[in-house]
Amino acid sequence: GIVVENVSKRFGSFCAVDQVSLEIKTGSLVALLGPSGSGKSTLLRLISGLEMPDTGRILLTGKDATYASVQDRNIGFVFQHYALFKHMTVRKNIAFGLELQKVPKDKVKKRVEELLDLVQLNGLGDRYPSQLSGGQRQRVALARALAVEPKVLLLDEPFGALDAKVRKDLRAWLRRLHDEVHVTTVFVTHDQEEAMEVSDEIVVMNQGRVEQMGTPAEIYDHPASAFVMSFIGPVN
Ligand code: ATP
Ligand code: MG
Repeated sequence: GIVVENVSKRFGSFCAVDQVSLEIKTGSLVALLGPSGSGKSTLLRLISGLEMPDTGRILLTGKDATYASVQDRNIGFVFQHYALFKHMTVRKNIAFGLELQKVPKDKVKKRVEELLDLVQLNGLGDRYPSQLSGGQRQRVALARALAVEPKVLLLDEPFGALDAKVRKDLRAWLRRLHDEVHVTTVFVTHDQEEAMEVSDEIVVMNQGRVEQMGTPAEIYDHPASAFVMSFIGPVN
Protein backbone atom coordinates (compact mmCIF):
# COMPACT_ATOMS: atom_id res chain seq x y z
CA GLY A 1 0.00 0.00 0.00
CA ILE A 2 0.84 3.67 0.32
CA VAL A 3 1.63 5.40 3.60
CA VAL A 4 1.82 9.18 3.76
CA GLU A 5 3.21 10.45 7.08
CA ASN A 6 2.91 14.07 8.04
CA VAL A 7 3.71 15.32 4.55
CA SER A 8 3.77 19.05 3.80
CA LYS A 9 4.53 20.96 0.63
CA ARG A 10 4.89 24.74 0.35
CA PHE A 11 5.08 26.91 -2.71
CA GLY A 12 6.68 30.09 -1.39
CA SER A 13 4.75 30.94 1.75
CA PHE A 14 1.63 29.06 0.58
CA CYS A 15 1.04 25.61 2.06
CA ALA A 16 -0.50 23.44 -0.71
CA VAL A 17 -0.33 20.21 1.31
CA ASP A 18 -0.45 20.67 5.07
CA GLN A 19 0.71 17.84 7.35
CA VAL A 20 -1.17 15.12 5.54
CA SER A 21 -1.15 11.58 6.94
CA LEU A 22 -3.04 8.71 5.40
CA GLU A 23 -2.80 5.02 4.60
CA ILE A 24 -4.00 3.42 1.39
CA LYS A 25 -4.41 -0.32 1.57
CA THR A 26 -2.80 -2.61 -0.99
CA GLY A 27 -5.19 -3.32 -3.83
CA SER A 28 -7.75 -0.69 -2.93
CA LEU A 29 -9.26 2.02 -5.11
CA VAL A 30 -9.20 5.33 -3.26
CA ALA A 31 -10.60 8.68 -4.39
CA LEU A 32 -8.99 12.00 -3.45
CA LEU A 33 -11.97 14.32 -3.37
CA GLY A 34 -12.00 18.06 -2.78
CA PRO A 35 -12.61 21.46 -4.31
CA SER A 36 -10.29 23.17 -6.76
CA GLY A 37 -7.06 24.23 -5.07
CA SER A 38 -7.42 21.82 -2.11
CA GLY A 39 -4.09 20.10 -2.89
CA LYS A 40 -5.25 16.90 -4.62
CA SER A 41 -2.88 17.09 -7.59
CA THR A 42 0.00 18.21 -5.40
CA LEU A 43 -0.51 15.22 -3.10
CA LEU A 44 -0.61 12.90 -6.11
CA ARG A 45 2.58 14.46 -7.47
CA LEU A 46 4.25 13.95 -4.09
CA ILE A 47 3.28 10.26 -4.09
CA SER A 48 4.57 9.93 -7.65
CA GLY A 49 7.90 11.64 -6.99
CA LEU A 50 7.23 14.51 -9.41
CA GLU A 51 7.42 16.79 -6.34
CA MET A 52 9.50 16.40 -3.18
CA PRO A 53 7.91 17.12 0.22
CA ASP A 54 9.29 19.74 2.62
CA THR A 55 8.53 17.50 5.60
CA GLY A 56 7.26 13.99 6.25
CA ARG A 57 7.68 10.56 4.70
CA ILE A 58 6.12 8.48 1.94
CA LEU A 59 6.25 4.69 2.05
CA LEU A 60 5.42 2.51 -0.95
CA THR A 61 4.90 -1.21 -0.28
CA GLY A 62 6.58 -0.80 3.08
CA LYS A 63 9.73 0.94 1.82
CA ASP A 64 10.69 4.56 2.35
CA ALA A 65 10.27 6.21 -1.06
CA THR A 66 10.24 9.85 0.11
CA TYR A 67 13.23 10.80 -2.04
CA ALA A 68 13.15 7.95 -4.58
CA SER A 69 13.13 8.87 -8.28
CA VAL A 70 9.93 8.57 -10.32
CA GLN A 71 11.35 5.55 -12.17
CA ASP A 72 12.26 3.72 -8.97
CA ARG A 73 8.74 4.02 -7.58
CA ASN A 74 7.17 1.73 -10.17
CA ILE A 75 4.09 3.86 -10.62
CA GLY A 76 1.65 4.22 -13.52
CA PHE A 77 0.07 7.60 -14.26
CA VAL A 78 -2.84 8.96 -16.20
CA PHE A 79 -3.65 12.68 -16.30
CA GLN A 80 -6.69 14.62 -17.39
CA HIS A 81 -5.25 15.53 -20.75
CA TYR A 82 -4.09 12.29 -22.22
CA ALA A 83 -0.61 12.55 -23.60
CA LEU A 84 -0.52 9.72 -26.08
CA PHE A 85 2.20 9.74 -28.71
CA LYS A 86 0.40 11.10 -31.77
CA HIS A 87 2.70 9.54 -34.34
CA MET A 88 2.36 6.05 -32.81
CA THR A 89 -0.46 3.54 -33.21
CA VAL A 90 -2.45 2.37 -30.19
CA ARG A 91 -0.34 -0.81 -30.06
CA LYS A 92 2.90 1.19 -30.16
CA ASN A 93 1.66 3.52 -27.46
CA ILE A 94 0.84 0.61 -25.15
CA ALA A 95 4.12 -1.14 -25.93
CA PHE A 96 6.24 1.95 -25.28
CA GLY A 97 7.18 1.31 -21.63
CA LEU A 98 7.80 -2.39 -22.26
CA GLU A 99 10.15 -1.58 -25.15
CA LEU A 100 12.02 0.88 -22.94
CA GLN A 101 12.51 -1.98 -20.49
CA LYS A 102 13.85 -4.11 -23.35
CA VAL A 103 11.20 -6.78 -22.87
CA PRO A 104 11.55 -9.39 -25.68
CA LYS A 105 9.41 -8.66 -28.78
CA ASP A 106 7.17 -11.75 -28.57
CA LYS A 107 6.39 -11.03 -24.92
CA VAL A 108 5.57 -7.39 -25.73
CA LYS A 109 3.23 -8.53 -28.48
CA LYS A 110 1.38 -10.92 -26.21
CA ARG A 111 1.11 -8.38 -23.39
CA VAL A 112 -0.20 -5.67 -25.72
CA GLU A 113 -2.96 -7.97 -26.98
CA GLU A 114 -3.92 -8.82 -23.37
CA LEU A 115 -4.10 -5.13 -22.53
CA LEU A 116 -6.19 -4.28 -25.61
CA ASP A 117 -8.56 -6.94 -24.42
CA LEU A 118 -8.55 -5.63 -20.84
CA VAL A 119 -9.44 -2.07 -21.85
CA GLN A 120 -11.87 -3.33 -24.48
CA LEU A 121 -10.15 -1.85 -27.48
CA ASN A 122 -9.72 -5.03 -29.52
CA GLY A 123 -9.71 -4.18 -33.18
CA LEU A 124 -8.46 -0.62 -32.64
CA GLY A 125 -4.78 -1.46 -32.13
CA ASP A 126 -3.62 -0.14 -35.49
CA ARG A 127 -5.36 3.23 -35.22
CA TYR A 128 -3.64 6.48 -34.37
CA PRO A 129 -4.80 8.60 -31.39
CA SER A 130 -6.43 11.14 -33.73
CA GLN A 131 -8.72 8.34 -34.97
CA LEU A 132 -10.12 7.62 -31.46
CA SER A 133 -12.78 9.19 -29.25
CA GLY A 134 -11.75 10.90 -26.01
CA GLY A 135 -12.92 7.95 -23.91
CA GLN A 136 -11.03 5.48 -26.10
CA ARG A 137 -7.87 7.58 -25.77
CA GLN A 138 -8.15 7.55 -21.98
CA ARG A 139 -8.48 3.76 -22.08
CA VAL A 140 -5.30 3.58 -24.18
CA ALA A 141 -3.59 5.82 -21.61
CA LEU A 142 -4.72 3.42 -18.86
CA ALA A 143 -3.49 0.39 -20.81
CA ARG A 144 -0.14 2.10 -21.33
CA ALA A 145 0.13 2.88 -17.62
CA LEU A 146 -0.76 -0.72 -16.69
CA ALA A 147 1.59 -2.28 -19.27
CA VAL A 148 4.65 -2.24 -17.01
CA GLU A 149 2.68 -3.75 -14.13
CA PRO A 150 3.02 -0.84 -11.72
CA LYS A 151 2.57 -1.36 -7.99
CA VAL A 152 0.54 1.82 -7.84
CA LEU A 153 -1.71 3.56 -10.35
CA LEU A 154 -2.26 7.32 -9.97
CA LEU A 155 -5.10 8.92 -11.92
CA ASP A 156 -5.52 12.71 -11.89
CA GLU A 157 -9.04 13.47 -13.13
CA PRO A 158 -8.54 11.00 -15.97
CA PHE A 159 -12.05 11.55 -17.29
CA GLY A 160 -12.27 15.26 -16.48
CA ALA A 161 -12.17 16.46 -20.06
CA LEU A 162 -14.95 14.14 -21.24
CA ASP A 163 -18.68 14.70 -21.43
CA ALA A 164 -21.00 13.53 -18.67
CA LYS A 165 -22.30 10.40 -20.40
CA VAL A 166 -18.83 9.13 -21.33
CA ARG A 167 -17.55 9.89 -17.81
CA LYS A 168 -20.35 7.80 -16.32
CA ASP A 169 -19.57 4.86 -18.59
CA LEU A 170 -15.85 5.10 -17.91
CA ARG A 171 -16.21 5.26 -14.14
CA ALA A 172 -18.24 2.04 -14.12
CA TRP A 173 -15.66 0.55 -16.43
CA LEU A 174 -12.79 1.66 -14.16
CA ARG A 175 -14.45 -0.10 -11.24
CA ARG A 176 -14.74 -3.34 -13.22
CA LEU A 177 -11.15 -3.02 -14.44
CA HIS A 178 -9.96 -2.53 -10.87
CA ASP A 179 -11.87 -5.59 -9.73
CA GLU A 180 -9.95 -7.55 -12.36
CA VAL A 181 -6.48 -6.09 -11.91
CA HIS A 182 -6.41 -5.10 -8.19
CA VAL A 183 -3.60 -2.60 -8.51
CA THR A 184 -3.53 -0.05 -5.68
CA THR A 185 -5.15 2.99 -7.30
CA VAL A 186 -5.48 6.64 -6.23
CA PHE A 187 -7.99 8.56 -8.25
CA VAL A 188 -8.39 12.36 -8.08
CA THR A 189 -11.78 13.90 -8.65
CA HIS A 190 -13.77 16.92 -7.56
CA ASP A 191 -17.01 15.10 -8.39
CA GLN A 192 -18.55 13.65 -5.23
CA GLU A 193 -20.86 11.32 -7.16
CA GLU A 194 -17.89 9.87 -9.02
CA ALA A 195 -16.00 9.31 -5.75
CA MET A 196 -19.01 7.70 -4.05
CA GLU A 197 -19.71 5.35 -6.93
CA VAL A 198 -16.23 4.14 -7.78
CA SER A 199 -14.08 3.99 -4.67
CA ASP A 200 -13.46 1.69 -1.71
CA GLU A 201 -12.44 4.69 0.38
CA ILE A 202 -12.59 8.45 -0.02
CA VAL A 203 -10.10 11.02 1.22
CA VAL A 204 -11.84 14.39 1.52
CA MET A 205 -9.38 17.29 1.17
CA ASN A 206 -9.85 20.96 1.99
CA GLN A 207 -7.17 23.67 1.95
CA GLY A 208 -4.29 21.22 1.87
CA ARG A 209 -5.55 19.11 4.73
CA VAL A 210 -7.38 15.80 5.04
CA GLU A 211 -10.81 16.53 6.45
CA GLN A 212 -11.86 12.88 6.59
CA MET A 213 -11.01 9.46 5.22
CA GLY A 214 -13.45 6.57 5.15
CA THR A 215 -15.68 4.38 3.05
CA PRO A 216 -18.32 6.19 1.01
CA ALA A 217 -20.97 5.01 3.48
CA GLU A 218 -19.01 6.19 6.54
CA ILE A 219 -18.43 9.61 5.03
CA TYR A 220 -21.99 9.96 3.85
CA ASP A 221 -23.55 8.79 7.12
CA HIS A 222 -21.06 10.37 9.53
CA PRO A 223 -19.45 13.44 8.01
CA ALA A 224 -16.67 14.58 10.37
CA SER A 225 -17.05 18.29 9.77
CA ALA A 226 -19.37 20.94 8.38
CA PHE A 227 -17.14 21.07 5.33
CA VAL A 228 -17.53 17.35 4.59
CA MET A 229 -21.23 17.60 5.22
CA SER A 230 -21.63 20.44 2.72
CA PHE A 231 -19.32 18.84 0.18
CA ILE A 232 -20.60 15.29 0.19
CA GLY A 233 -23.63 15.09 2.43
CA PRO A 234 -27.25 14.54 1.47
CA VAL A 235 -27.79 16.64 -1.62
CA ASN A 236 -29.85 19.74 -0.94
P1 ATP B 1 -7.92 21.29 -9.04
O1 ATP B 1 -9.17 20.56 -8.63
O2 ATP B 1 -8.23 22.67 -9.54
O3 ATP B 1 -7.04 20.50 -9.96
P2 ATP B 1 -6.15 20.62 -6.82
O4 ATP B 1 -6.88 20.19 -5.59
O5 ATP B 1 -5.55 19.59 -7.68
O6 ATP B 1 -7.10 21.59 -7.66
P3 ATP B 1 -3.44 21.60 -6.57
O7 ATP B 1 -3.12 21.64 -8.01
O8 ATP B 1 -2.82 20.55 -5.75
O9 ATP B 1 -5.02 21.65 -6.32
O10 ATP B 1 -3.03 23.00 -5.99
C1 ATP B 1 -3.14 23.33 -4.60
C2 ATP B 1 -2.71 24.77 -4.39
O11 ATP B 1 -1.31 24.88 -4.60
C3 ATP B 1 -3.36 25.75 -5.36
O12 ATP B 1 -3.68 26.93 -4.65
C4 ATP B 1 -2.28 26.01 -6.38
O13 ATP B 1 -2.39 27.31 -6.91
C5 ATP B 1 -1.01 25.84 -5.60
N1 ATP B 1 0.07 25.32 -6.43
C6 ATP B 1 0.10 24.10 -7.03
N2 ATP B 1 1.25 23.92 -7.70
C7 ATP B 1 1.95 25.07 -7.55
C8 ATP B 1 3.22 25.54 -8.02
N3 ATP B 1 4.01 24.75 -8.75
N4 ATP B 1 3.61 26.76 -7.66
C9 ATP B 1 2.83 27.55 -6.88
N5 ATP B 1 1.63 27.18 -6.40
C10 ATP B 1 1.19 25.96 -6.73
MG1 MG C 1 -5.74 19.09 -9.71
